[in-house]
Amino acid sequence: MEFQVSARKWRPQKFSQLIGQEHIIRTLQNAVELNRISHAYLFSGTRGVGKTTTARILAKALNCENGPTPEPCDTCVACREIREGSSIDVREIDGASNNGVAEVRDLIDNVQYATSSCRYKVYIIDEVHMLSKSAFNALLKTLEEPPERVVFIFATTESDKIPETILSRCQCFEFKPLTHKQIIQQLQLISEQEGIAVYTLSLEEIAKNGAGSMRDAQSLLDQVVAFSGKEVTPGSVEAVLGIVGQKTLEIFIDAIRAQDCSALFAQVQDTVNAGKDLSYICRDLADYVRNLLVVKMADAPEKLVDAQAWDLEVLKRQAENFHADELHQIFSLLTRTEVEMKRSSLPQQVFEMALFRLVDVRPFQNIDDLIKRIGEMEDAGSPPAAVPAQAKPAAEAEKGPAVPVAKVQAEQGAADVALWEKVKAEICARKPVFLHYLESCQVVEFSDSVLHLAFQDPYTRDLVEREENRSLIAQAVRSVSGGEVRVGTSEIKAPESQASGQTDEIEKKKSAAPSALMTKSESEIIQQALDVFGGVLMR
Ligand SMILES: [Zn+2]
Repeated sequence: MEFQVSARKWRPQKFSQLIGQEHIIRTLQNAVELNRISHAYLFSGTRGVGKTTTARILAKALNCENGPTPEPCDTCVACREIREGSSIDVREIDGASNNGVAEVRDLIDNVQYATSSCRYKVYIIDEVHMLSKSAFNALLKTLEEPPERVVFIFATTESDKIPETILSRCQCFEFKPLTHKQIIQQLQLISEQEGIAVYTLSLEEIAKNGAGSMRDAQSLLDQVVAFSGKEVTPGSVEAVLGIVGQKTLEIFIDAIRAQDCSALFAQVQDTVNAGKDLSYICRDLADYVRNLLVVKMADAPEKLVDAQAWDLEVLKRQAENFHADELHQIFSLLTRTEVEMKRSSLPQQVFEMALFRLVDVRPFQNIDDLIKRIGEMEDAGSPPAAVPAQAKPAAEAEKGPAVPVAKVQAEQGAADVALWEKVKAEICARKPVFLHYLESCQVVEFSDSVLHLAFQDPYTRDLVEREENRSLIAQAVRSVSGGEVRVGTSEIKAPESQASGQTDEIEKKKSAAPSALMTKSESEIIQQALDVFGGVLMR
Protein backbone atom coordinates (compact mmCIF):
# COMPACT_ATOMS: atom_id res chain seq x y z
CA MET A 1 0.00 0.00 0.00
CA GLU A 2 1.37 3.35 -1.05
CA PHE A 3 0.85 5.85 1.74
CA GLN A 4 2.11 9.38 1.36
CA VAL A 5 3.29 11.29 4.41
CA SER A 6 0.13 12.95 5.69
CA ALA A 7 1.87 16.09 6.85
CA ARG A 8 3.00 16.92 3.32
CA LYS A 9 -0.05 15.70 1.47
CA TRP A 10 -2.42 17.47 3.81
CA ARG A 11 -0.51 20.70 4.16
CA PRO A 12 -3.06 23.55 3.97
CA GLN A 13 -2.75 25.57 0.76
CA LYS A 14 -5.12 28.41 1.60
CA PHE A 15 -5.78 30.52 4.68
CA SER A 16 -9.23 28.95 4.99
CA GLN A 17 -7.67 25.48 5.30
CA LEU A 18 -5.45 26.43 8.23
CA ILE A 19 -6.44 25.04 11.60
CA GLY A 20 -6.11 27.26 14.66
CA GLN A 21 -4.15 30.57 14.79
CA GLU A 22 -7.27 32.49 13.74
CA HIS A 23 -6.01 35.79 15.21
CA ILE A 24 -2.83 35.64 13.12
CA ILE A 25 -4.59 34.70 9.91
CA ARG A 26 -7.10 37.51 10.23
CA THR A 27 -4.34 40.08 10.83
CA LEU A 28 -2.36 38.86 7.81
CA GLN A 29 -5.41 38.81 5.54
CA ASN A 30 -6.30 42.35 6.61
CA ALA A 31 -2.74 43.50 5.94
CA VAL A 32 -2.90 42.12 2.38
CA GLU A 33 -6.32 43.60 1.80
CA LEU A 34 -5.32 47.06 3.08
CA ASN A 35 -1.94 46.88 1.34
CA ARG A 36 -0.10 47.35 4.63
CA ILE A 37 2.51 44.65 4.16
CA SER A 38 5.40 44.67 6.59
CA HIS A 39 8.95 44.11 5.32
CA ALA A 40 9.64 41.50 7.95
CA TYR A 41 7.53 39.03 9.90
CA LEU A 42 8.57 36.74 12.70
CA PHE A 43 6.47 33.61 13.27
CA SER A 44 7.38 31.92 16.53
CA GLY A 45 5.93 28.90 18.27
CA THR A 46 6.45 25.22 18.90
CA ARG A 47 7.03 22.84 15.97
CA GLY A 48 4.22 21.67 13.75
CA VAL A 49 1.77 24.48 14.46
CA GLY A 50 1.72 25.98 10.97
CA LYS A 51 4.46 28.64 10.87
CA THR A 52 6.06 27.70 7.54
CA THR A 53 2.72 26.78 6.03
CA THR A 54 1.33 30.21 6.90
CA ALA A 55 4.47 31.82 5.46
CA ARG A 56 3.93 30.03 2.13
CA ILE A 57 0.26 30.94 1.99
CA LEU A 58 1.17 34.57 2.68
CA ALA A 59 3.70 34.44 -0.17
CA LYS A 60 0.94 33.12 -2.44
CA ALA A 61 -1.53 35.77 -1.26
CA LEU A 62 0.99 38.46 -2.22
CA ASN A 63 1.91 36.95 -5.58
CA CYS A 64 -1.29 35.27 -6.76
CA GLU A 65 -2.16 36.34 -10.32
CA ASN A 66 -5.55 37.39 -8.96
CA GLY A 67 -3.97 39.38 -6.15
CA PRO A 68 -2.64 40.61 -3.90
CA THR A 69 -5.57 38.85 -2.32
CA PRO A 70 -6.63 37.78 1.19
CA GLU A 71 -7.12 34.26 -0.18
CA PRO A 72 -4.81 32.92 -2.91
CA CYS A 73 -6.41 30.90 -5.74
CA ASP A 74 -3.82 28.09 -5.50
CA THR A 75 -4.31 27.31 -9.19
CA CYS A 76 -2.52 30.10 -11.09
CA VAL A 77 1.09 29.69 -12.21
CA ALA A 78 2.49 31.82 -9.36
CA CYS A 79 0.53 29.91 -6.70
CA ARG A 80 1.53 26.58 -8.23
CA GLU A 81 5.21 27.46 -8.40
CA ILE A 82 5.20 28.55 -4.79
CA ARG A 83 3.41 25.38 -3.75
CA GLU A 84 5.93 23.24 -5.62
CA GLY A 85 8.89 25.22 -4.31
CA SER A 86 10.04 26.15 -7.86
CA SER A 87 9.35 29.89 -7.73
CA ILE A 88 12.43 32.03 -8.39
CA ASP A 89 11.09 34.92 -6.36
CA VAL A 90 9.91 33.01 -3.30
CA ARG A 91 12.87 31.35 -1.64
CA GLU A 92 12.83 29.12 1.36
CA ILE A 93 16.04 28.93 3.35
CA ASP A 94 16.82 26.60 6.20
CA GLY A 95 18.53 28.70 8.86
CA ALA A 96 20.02 25.63 10.48
CA SER A 97 22.14 24.65 7.47
CA ASN A 98 22.69 28.12 5.94
CA ASN A 99 23.67 29.90 9.10
CA GLY A 100 26.97 31.51 8.09
CA VAL A 101 27.65 35.07 7.07
CA ALA A 102 28.54 33.93 3.51
CA GLU A 103 25.09 32.49 2.90
CA VAL A 104 23.41 35.62 4.21
CA ARG A 105 25.61 37.81 1.94
CA ASP A 106 24.55 35.69 -1.05
CA LEU A 107 20.97 36.21 -0.08
CA ILE A 108 21.35 39.95 0.38
CA ASP A 109 23.03 40.33 -3.03
CA ASN A 110 20.05 38.56 -4.52
CA VAL A 111 17.64 40.87 -2.68
CA GLN A 112 18.79 43.84 -4.76
CA TYR A 113 17.60 42.41 -8.09
CA ALA A 114 14.07 43.02 -9.29
CA THR A 115 11.58 40.18 -9.24
CA SER A 116 11.46 37.98 -12.32
CA SER A 117 7.77 37.13 -12.53
CA CYS A 118 6.23 37.74 -9.11
CA ARG A 119 5.00 40.92 -7.48
CA TYR A 120 7.02 40.41 -4.30
CA LYS A 121 10.30 38.73 -3.48
CA VAL A 122 9.63 36.64 -0.39
CA TYR A 123 12.39 35.10 1.73
CA ILE A 124 11.21 32.50 4.19
CA ILE A 125 13.99 31.69 6.65
CA ASP A 126 13.14 28.69 8.78
CA GLU A 127 14.80 28.10 12.17
CA VAL A 128 16.17 31.62 11.95
CA HIS A 129 17.51 31.47 15.53
CA MET A 130 20.28 29.22 14.18
CA LEU A 131 21.94 32.06 12.26
CA SER A 132 25.33 33.12 13.56
CA LYS A 133 25.84 36.52 15.16
CA SER A 134 27.66 37.89 12.12
CA ALA A 135 24.94 36.50 9.85
CA PHE A 136 22.34 38.38 11.87
CA ASN A 137 24.42 41.56 11.61
CA ALA A 138 24.65 41.24 7.84
CA LEU A 139 20.90 40.71 7.68
CA LEU A 140 20.24 43.69 9.91
CA LYS A 141 21.54 46.18 7.30
CA THR A 142 18.99 44.94 4.78
CA LEU A 143 16.20 45.01 7.34
CA GLU A 144 17.02 48.62 8.16
CA GLU A 145 16.66 49.73 4.55
CA PRO A 146 14.73 47.01 2.77
CA PRO A 147 14.30 47.32 -1.00
CA GLU A 148 10.76 47.84 -2.27
CA ARG A 149 8.63 44.73 -2.63
CA VAL A 150 10.82 42.45 -0.52
CA VAL A 151 9.29 40.55 2.36
CA PHE A 152 11.21 38.50 4.91
CA ILE A 153 9.33 35.86 6.88
CA PHE A 154 11.32 34.35 9.72
CA ALA A 155 10.11 31.25 11.49
CA THR A 156 11.52 30.01 14.77
CA THR A 157 10.82 27.69 17.64
CA GLU A 158 13.08 29.75 19.91
CA SER A 159 12.32 33.45 19.59
CA ASP A 160 14.30 34.23 22.75
CA LYS A 161 17.51 33.44 20.82
CA ILE A 162 16.87 36.17 18.27
CA PRO A 163 18.71 39.48 18.78
CA GLU A 164 16.60 42.38 19.96
CA THR A 165 17.76 44.47 17.00
CA ILE A 166 16.13 41.97 14.61
CA LEU A 167 12.99 41.51 16.71
CA SER A 168 12.35 45.25 16.81
CA ARG A 169 12.28 45.35 12.99
CA CYS A 170 9.78 42.52 12.62
CA GLN A 171 6.08 42.20 13.06
CA CYS A 172 5.98 39.30 15.52
CA PHE A 173 3.31 36.60 15.73
CA GLU A 174 3.21 33.94 18.41
CA PHE A 175 1.67 30.69 17.12
CA LYS A 176 -0.22 28.74 19.77
CA PRO A 177 -0.01 24.96 20.20
CA LEU A 178 -3.07 23.30 18.69
CA THR A 179 -5.74 21.89 20.95
CA HIS A 180 -6.55 18.17 21.03
CA LYS A 181 -9.90 18.98 19.48
CA GLN A 182 -8.32 20.82 16.54
CA ILE A 183 -5.87 17.99 15.95
CA ILE A 184 -8.57 15.32 16.20
CA GLN A 185 -10.71 17.24 13.70
CA GLN A 186 -7.92 17.29 11.16
CA LEU A 187 -6.98 13.64 11.75
CA GLN A 188 -10.61 12.70 11.28
CA LEU A 189 -10.74 14.58 8.00
CA ILE A 190 -7.55 12.88 6.79
CA SER A 191 -8.80 9.44 7.83
CA GLU A 192 -12.09 9.94 6.01
CA GLN A 193 -10.39 11.10 2.84
CA GLU A 194 -7.84 8.29 2.97
CA GLY A 195 -10.45 5.65 3.74
CA ILE A 196 -8.89 4.79 7.07
CA ALA A 197 -11.26 3.27 9.65
CA VAL A 198 -10.18 4.62 13.01
CA TYR A 199 -11.76 4.86 16.47
CA THR A 200 -12.14 8.31 18.03
CA LEU A 201 -10.33 6.90 21.03
CA SER A 202 -7.34 6.07 18.87
CA LEU A 203 -7.32 9.58 17.43
CA GLU A 204 -7.46 10.98 20.94
CA GLU A 205 -4.45 8.90 21.92
CA ILE A 206 -2.58 10.16 18.86
CA ALA A 207 -3.56 13.79 19.54
CA LYS A 208 -2.47 13.45 23.17
CA ASN A 209 0.93 12.20 22.05
CA GLY A 210 1.25 14.89 19.40
CA ALA A 211 1.31 17.44 22.25
CA GLY A 212 -0.08 20.37 20.27
CA SER A 213 1.87 19.69 17.08
CA MET A 214 -0.20 18.87 14.00
CA ARG A 215 2.85 17.60 12.15
CA ASP A 216 3.79 15.21 14.96
CA ALA A 217 0.21 13.99 15.26
CA GLN A 218 0.00 13.38 11.53
CA SER A 219 3.25 11.48 11.40
CA LEU A 220 2.08 9.38 14.36
CA LEU A 221 -1.04 8.57 12.36
CA ASP A 222 1.22 7.59 9.45
CA GLN A 223 3.19 5.27 11.71
CA VAL A 224 0.05 3.66 13.07
CA VAL A 225 -1.41 3.17 9.58
CA ALA A 226 1.90 1.75 8.34
CA PHE A 227 1.71 -0.73 11.22
CA SER A 228 -1.93 -1.73 11.06
CA GLY A 229 -3.18 -0.94 7.56
CA LYS A 230 -6.37 0.98 6.99
CA GLU A 231 -8.12 -0.54 9.99
CA VAL A 232 -6.76 1.26 13.04
CA THR A 233 -7.69 -0.32 16.36
CA PRO A 234 -6.83 0.95 19.87
CA GLY A 235 -4.46 -2.01 20.12
CA SER A 236 -2.39 -0.90 17.14
CA VAL A 237 -2.14 2.65 18.52
CA GLU A 238 -0.97 1.23 21.82
CA ALA A 239 1.63 -0.91 20.10
CA VAL A 240 3.06 1.90 17.99
CA LEU A 241 2.98 4.64 20.61
CA GLY A 242 4.29 2.51 23.46
CA ILE A 243 1.26 3.09 25.66
CA VAL A 244 -0.92 0.55 27.46
CA GLY A 245 -4.64 -0.13 27.51
CA GLN A 246 -7.18 -0.22 30.32
CA LYS A 247 -6.40 -3.82 31.27
CA THR A 248 -2.83 -2.97 32.30
CA LEU A 249 -3.93 0.13 34.22
CA GLU A 250 -6.58 -1.99 35.93
CA ILE A 251 -3.92 -4.47 37.06
CA PHE A 252 -1.78 -1.64 38.45
CA ILE A 253 -4.71 -0.25 40.45
CA ASP A 254 -5.72 -3.66 41.82
CA ALA A 255 -2.15 -4.31 42.91
CA ILE A 256 -1.96 -0.90 44.60
CA ARG A 257 -5.17 -1.64 46.51
CA ALA A 258 -3.97 -5.10 47.50
CA GLN A 259 -0.68 -3.50 48.64
CA ASP A 260 1.03 -6.10 46.50
CA CYS A 261 4.45 -4.61 45.82
CA SER A 262 5.85 -7.68 44.11
CA ALA A 263 2.95 -7.71 41.65
CA LEU A 264 3.55 -4.02 40.95
CA PHE A 265 7.25 -4.48 40.33
CA ALA A 266 6.56 -7.48 38.09
CA GLN A 267 4.04 -5.40 36.14
CA VAL A 268 6.59 -2.61 35.70
CA GLN A 269 9.11 -5.14 34.40
CA ASP A 270 6.58 -6.66 31.98
CA THR A 271 5.70 -3.22 30.71
CA VAL A 272 9.33 -2.28 30.16
CA ASN A 273 10.00 -5.61 28.45
CA ALA A 274 7.07 -4.96 26.12
CA GLY A 275 8.84 -1.78 25.05
CA LYS A 276 6.30 0.58 26.61
CA ASP A 277 7.22 4.01 27.86
CA LEU A 278 6.85 4.21 31.64
CA SER A 279 6.28 7.96 31.68
CA TYR A 280 3.26 7.48 29.40
CA ILE A 281 2.03 4.80 31.77
CA CYS A 282 2.47 7.10 34.74
CA ARG A 283 0.45 9.77 32.92
CA ASP A 284 -2.23 7.29 31.82
CA LEU A 285 -2.45 5.90 35.34
CA ALA A 286 -3.11 9.42 36.67
CA ASP A 287 -5.81 9.84 34.04
CA TYR A 288 -7.28 6.49 35.06
CA VAL A 289 -7.35 7.51 38.73
CA ARG A 290 -9.14 10.68 37.69
CA ASN A 291 -11.78 8.48 36.05
CA LEU A 292 -12.08 6.40 39.21
CA LEU A 293 -12.71 9.56 41.18
CA VAL A 294 -15.32 10.75 38.69
CA VAL A 295 -17.09 7.39 38.82
CA LYS A 296 -17.02 7.55 42.61
CA MET A 297 -18.23 11.11 43.03
CA ALA A 298 -20.39 11.98 40.03
CA ASP A 299 -24.09 11.20 39.76
CA ALA A 300 -23.87 10.52 36.04
CA PRO A 301 -20.27 9.40 35.42
CA GLU A 302 -21.05 8.25 31.88
CA LYS A 303 -21.23 11.91 30.91
CA LEU A 304 -17.77 12.65 32.29
CA VAL A 305 -15.92 9.46 31.43
CA ASP A 306 -15.70 8.39 27.81
CA ALA A 307 -17.80 5.24 27.98
CA GLN A 308 -16.47 4.04 24.63
CA ALA A 309 -12.92 4.23 25.86
CA TRP A 310 -13.38 2.87 29.36
CA ASP A 311 -15.24 -0.02 30.90
CA LEU A 312 -17.43 1.76 33.46
CA GLU A 313 -18.30 -1.42 35.35
CA VAL A 314 -14.64 -2.10 36.04
CA LEU A 315 -14.10 1.52 37.06
CA LYS A 316 -17.05 1.32 39.46
CA ARG A 317 -15.80 -1.88 41.04
CA GLN A 318 -12.34 -0.42 41.56
CA ALA A 319 -13.58 2.96 42.77
CA GLU A 320 -15.52 1.23 45.54
CA ASN A 321 -12.28 0.01 47.06
CA PHE A 322 -10.92 3.51 47.58
CA HIS A 323 -11.80 6.55 49.63
CA ALA A 324 -12.15 9.67 47.55
CA ASP A 325 -9.24 11.32 49.29
CA GLU A 326 -7.04 8.27 48.68
CA LEU A 327 -7.72 8.65 44.96
CA HIS A 328 -6.92 12.30 45.24
CA GLN A 329 -3.61 11.59 46.95
CA ILE A 330 -2.74 8.90 44.41
CA PHE A 331 -3.50 11.29 41.58
CA SER A 332 -1.25 14.06 42.89
CA LEU A 333 1.56 11.64 43.62
CA LEU A 334 1.37 10.29 40.05
CA THR A 335 1.34 13.73 38.44
CA ARG A 336 4.38 14.76 40.49
CA THR A 337 6.09 11.50 39.56
CA GLU A 338 5.52 12.09 35.85
CA VAL A 339 7.38 15.40 36.08
CA GLU A 340 10.15 13.85 38.16
CA MET A 341 10.53 10.99 35.67
CA LYS A 342 11.14 13.43 32.85
CA ARG A 343 13.97 15.08 34.75
CA SER A 344 15.56 11.94 36.09
CA SER A 345 18.15 9.70 34.49
CA LEU A 346 16.51 6.82 36.36
CA PRO A 347 12.85 7.14 35.35
CA GLN A 348 12.00 3.50 36.00
CA GLN A 349 13.30 3.70 39.55
CA VAL A 350 11.44 6.96 40.19
CA PHE A 351 8.25 5.27 39.01
CA GLU A 352 8.86 2.20 41.18
CA MET A 353 9.49 4.31 44.27
CA ALA A 354 6.25 6.17 43.62
CA LEU A 355 4.33 2.89 43.36
CA PHE A 356 5.92 1.83 46.60
CA ARG A 357 4.52 4.95 48.25
CA LEU A 358 1.14 4.53 46.58
CA VAL A 359 0.43 1.25 48.34
CA ASP A 360 0.74 3.13 51.61
CA VAL A 361 -1.75 5.89 50.84
CA ARG A 362 -4.41 6.19 53.56
CA PRO A 363 -7.49 8.35 53.81
CA PHE A 364 -6.98 11.56 55.71
CA GLN A 365 -8.47 11.62 59.19
CA ASN A 366 -10.87 14.40 59.88
CA ILE A 367 -8.82 17.02 61.72
CA ASP A 368 -11.69 18.03 64.02
CA ASP A 369 -12.08 14.44 65.17
CA LEU A 370 -8.37 14.21 65.86
CA ILE A 371 -8.31 17.41 67.89
CA LYS A 372 -11.30 16.24 69.87
CA ARG A 373 -9.62 12.95 70.62
CA ILE A 374 -6.35 14.55 71.66
CA GLY A 375 -8.35 16.75 74.02
CA GLU A 376 -9.92 13.65 75.47
CA MET A 377 -6.56 11.97 75.96
CA GLU A 378 -5.18 14.98 77.76
CA ASP A 379 -8.04 14.82 80.17
CA ALA A 380 -6.64 12.08 82.40
CA GLY A 381 -9.92 11.65 84.23
CA SER A 382 -11.89 10.69 81.18
CA PRO A 383 -13.21 7.14 81.05
CA PRO A 384 -11.31 4.81 78.72
CA ALA A 385 -14.32 4.27 76.48
CA ALA A 386 -14.00 7.87 75.31
CA VAL A 387 -10.79 7.03 73.50
CA PRO A 388 -11.43 4.38 70.91
CA ALA A 389 -8.75 1.80 70.42
CA GLN A 390 -7.08 2.58 67.10
CA ALA A 391 -4.24 0.11 67.06
CA LYS A 392 -3.04 -1.21 63.74
CA PRO A 393 -3.07 -4.97 63.21
CA ALA A 394 0.70 -5.28 63.58
CA ALA A 395 0.67 -3.33 66.82
CA GLU A 396 -2.17 -5.46 68.14
CA ALA A 397 -0.18 -8.62 67.75
CA GLU A 398 2.76 -7.17 69.62
CA LYS A 399 0.80 -5.80 72.51
CA GLY A 400 -1.33 -8.86 73.04
CA PRO A 401 -5.07 -9.12 72.80
CA ALA A 402 -6.24 -7.18 75.87
CA VAL A 403 -5.63 -3.62 74.67
CA PRO A 404 -7.08 -3.29 71.16
CA VAL A 405 -10.46 -4.87 71.75
CA ALA A 406 -11.15 -3.46 75.16
CA LYS A 407 -14.79 -3.40 74.26
CA VAL A 408 -15.27 -7.10 73.65
CA GLN A 409 -17.64 -8.16 76.35
CA ALA A 410 -15.78 -8.98 79.54
CA GLU A 411 -17.04 -12.55 80.02
CA GLN A 412 -15.95 -13.57 76.54
CA GLY A 413 -12.36 -12.44 76.92
CA ALA A 414 -9.24 -13.67 75.25
CA ALA A 415 -10.75 -16.58 73.32
CA ASP A 416 -12.95 -14.21 71.31
CA VAL A 417 -10.08 -11.87 70.64
CA ALA A 418 -8.09 -14.74 69.20
CA LEU A 419 -11.10 -15.84 67.18
CA TRP A 420 -11.60 -12.30 65.87
CA GLU A 421 -7.95 -12.20 64.79
CA LYS A 422 -8.52 -15.38 62.78
CA VAL A 423 -11.73 -14.05 61.26
CA LYS A 424 -9.95 -10.83 60.36
CA ALA A 425 -7.14 -12.74 58.63
CA GLU A 426 -9.75 -14.76 56.71
CA ILE A 427 -11.61 -11.61 55.61
CA CYS A 428 -8.41 -9.95 54.44
CA ALA A 429 -7.37 -13.05 52.55
CA ARG A 430 -10.67 -12.91 50.66
CA LYS A 431 -10.56 -9.18 50.04
CA PRO A 432 -7.22 -7.48 50.83
CA VAL A 433 -8.77 -4.04 50.98
CA PHE A 434 -10.23 -5.02 54.36
CA LEU A 435 -6.72 -4.85 55.82
CA HIS A 436 -7.25 -1.19 55.58
CA TYR A 437 -10.94 -1.04 56.59
CA LEU A 438 -10.53 -3.13 59.73
CA GLU A 439 -7.45 -1.27 60.84
CA SER A 440 -9.45 1.18 62.89
CA CYS A 441 -12.60 -0.71 63.81
CA GLN A 442 -13.80 -1.77 67.23
CA VAL A 443 -15.47 -5.08 67.91
CA VAL A 444 -18.51 -4.00 69.90
CA GLU A 445 -20.03 -7.43 70.12
CA PHE A 446 -18.93 -10.87 68.95
CA SER A 447 -21.28 -13.56 70.14
CA ASP A 448 -22.63 -16.81 68.65
CA SER A 449 -25.23 -14.90 66.66
CA VAL A 450 -23.94 -11.35 66.26
CA LEU A 451 -20.78 -9.64 65.10
CA HIS A 452 -21.04 -5.91 65.56
CA LEU A 453 -18.26 -3.61 64.36
CA ALA A 454 -17.94 0.10 65.06
CA PHE A 455 -16.03 2.52 62.85
CA GLN A 456 -14.60 5.92 63.59
CA ASP A 457 -14.92 7.05 60.02
CA PRO A 458 -18.36 7.10 58.38
CA TYR A 459 -16.98 6.35 54.88
CA THR A 460 -15.39 3.12 56.00
CA ARG A 461 -18.55 2.23 57.85
CA ASP A 462 -20.62 2.81 54.72
CA LEU A 463 -18.29 0.62 52.70
CA VAL A 464 -18.35 -2.25 55.18
CA GLU A 465 -22.11 -1.86 55.63
CA ARG A 466 -22.72 -2.86 52.00
CA GLU A 467 -24.58 -6.10 51.57
CA GLU A 468 -21.75 -7.88 49.74
CA ASN A 469 -19.21 -6.88 52.38
CA ARG A 470 -21.38 -7.93 55.30
CA SER A 471 -21.98 -11.28 53.71
CA LEU A 472 -18.26 -11.62 53.05
CA ILE A 473 -17.61 -11.10 56.78
CA ALA A 474 -20.33 -13.59 57.72
CA GLN A 475 -18.79 -16.13 55.34
CA ALA A 476 -15.38 -15.59 56.92
CA VAL A 477 -16.85 -16.24 60.39
CA ARG A 478 -18.53 -19.36 59.05
CA SER A 479 -15.34 -20.72 57.56
CA VAL A 480 -13.31 -20.00 60.73
CA SER A 481 -15.75 -21.05 63.46
CA GLY A 482 -18.62 -22.72 61.64
CA GLY A 483 -21.00 -20.25 63.28
CA GLU A 484 -23.72 -18.16 61.63
CA VAL A 485 -23.58 -14.52 62.68
CA ARG A 486 -25.54 -11.48 61.71
CA VAL A 487 -23.10 -8.69 60.87
CA GLY A 488 -23.93 -5.18 62.03
CA THR A 489 -22.02 -1.93 61.92
CA SER A 490 -22.22 1.42 63.63
CA GLU A 491 -20.31 4.62 63.95
CA ILE A 492 -18.27 5.40 67.03
CA LYS A 493 -19.81 8.35 68.82
CA ALA A 494 -17.89 8.34 72.06
CA PRO A 495 -18.57 11.85 73.41
CA GLU A 496 -22.37 11.55 73.17
CA SER A 497 -22.50 8.32 75.18
CA GLN A 498 -20.58 10.11 77.89
CA ALA A 499 -23.03 12.95 78.16
CA SER A 500 -26.16 10.86 78.48
CA GLY A 501 -26.87 9.23 81.84
CA GLN A 502 -23.61 10.44 83.24
CA THR A 503 -23.84 9.14 86.79
CA ASP A 504 -25.02 5.74 85.68
CA GLU A 505 -22.19 5.49 83.19
CA ILE A 506 -19.57 6.43 85.74
CA GLU A 507 -20.99 3.96 88.27
CA LYS A 508 -20.80 1.21 85.67
CA LYS A 509 -17.28 2.15 84.64
CA LYS A 510 -16.16 2.10 88.29
CA SER A 511 -17.37 -1.42 88.82
CA ALA A 512 -16.32 -2.80 85.43
CA ALA A 513 -12.99 -1.11 84.76
CA PRO A 514 -9.88 -1.63 86.84
CA SER A 515 -8.71 1.58 88.50
CA ALA A 516 -5.53 1.62 86.38
CA LEU A 517 -7.67 2.52 83.38
CA MET A 518 -9.27 5.48 85.10
CA THR A 519 -6.08 7.50 85.27
CA LYS A 520 -3.86 7.14 82.26
CA SER A 521 -0.10 7.25 82.52
CA GLU A 522 1.86 9.51 80.22
CA SER A 523 3.14 6.56 78.21
CA GLU A 524 -0.40 5.33 77.64
CA ILE A 525 -1.44 8.69 76.29
CA ILE A 526 1.57 8.75 74.01
CA GLN A 527 0.79 5.24 72.82
CA GLN A 528 -2.78 6.22 72.06
CA ALA A 529 -1.59 9.25 70.13
CA LEU A 530 0.71 6.97 68.15
CA ASP A 531 -2.17 4.64 67.47
CA VAL A 532 -4.26 7.48 66.16
CA PHE A 533 -1.58 9.09 64.03
CA GLY A 534 0.33 5.93 63.17
CA GLY A 535 3.78 7.36 63.95
CA VAL A 536 6.83 6.04 65.79
CA LEU A 537 8.39 7.37 68.98
CA MET A 538 11.72 9.07 68.25
CA ARG A 539 12.85 9.65 71.84
ZN1 LIG B 1 -3.09 32.26 -7.52
